[in-house]
Amino acid sequence: MKILIVEDQPRLAQLLKQGLAERAYTVSCADSCRAARDALCDAAYDLIILDLGLPDGDGLDLLREWRRNGFKEPVLILSARDSVQDRVRGLDLGADDYLPKPFSFEELLARVRSQLRRQSEVKDTVIEYRGIRLDLLNQTAHLHGQPVDLTRREFALLEIFMQNPGRILARTLISEKIWASNYDVDTNLLDVYMSRLRAKLEKSQDKAFFKTVRGVGYQLL
Ligand code: CA
Repeated sequence: MKILIVEDQPRLAQLLKQGLAERAYTVSCADSCRAARDALCDAAYDLIILDLGLPDGDGLDLLREWRRNGFKEPVLILSARDSVQDRVRGLDLGADDYLPKPFSFEELLARVRSQLRRQSEVKDTVIEYRGIRLDLLNQTAHLHGQPVDLTRREFALLEIFMQNPGRILARTLISEKIWASNYDVDTNLLDVYMSRLRAKLEKSQDKAFFKTVRGVGYQLL
C-alpha cells in the first residue's frame, strides 16, 4: 500500500512517515504543491494525506485540480482548518475524509485503514468505456459486444487505462503497475505491448483509442 504525504512541516511529515512505515505502508513525502504534483505524475498511490496550508499554494486547489484531471486516488485532508464549512468544502471538492489537527495518530491510522478497505470493496468488477467492456473477475474483454482476445499482460495494461480514462499516464507509472516495481523495464517493451493492444482494439475502428504523448506516456482518449 503506497501513501503520499503532502505536508510542509518537516517534523510532522517525518513523524507520519515513520509511523506509517512502521506499519508496513510504503510512504513518500511532498512538502509543496509542486512536489505533490510531480509525485502523483510519477507514481500511483493508494492514498494521499493532504495538508491544506502549503508554501506555494492551497491544498484545496491541488485537490480540485486532481479531480478535474481524473485523478481518483482517495484523499484524506489533514488540516488545522477545522470549521464545519472547511470540512464541507474539502469533501465537496472530492476529499474522501477530513481529519482536523491536532489529531491522534491512532485515529489517523484507523481512518487510513478505513480508506484502504473501502477502496478494495468499491472497486468495480466490470468497467466500460467507449464500447470496451472489461470484466475484471473473469478477465475477459469485449469491444462492442465482440470478444477481444488479450494476453494477461495486455489485459492488465488495458485495465490501467480503463481505470483512468482520459488521464495521461506516465510510462514509469504504467511499467510499475504491469511489471514488478523494482524491475528495470526496457521501455521499448511497453511500446511493443501498446502497439499490440492498439492493433487488437483499433483494427475495426476508425477512431484511435490511444494517444502517444511524446516524452511522457500514453492516454486512453
Ligand atoms: Ca501546512
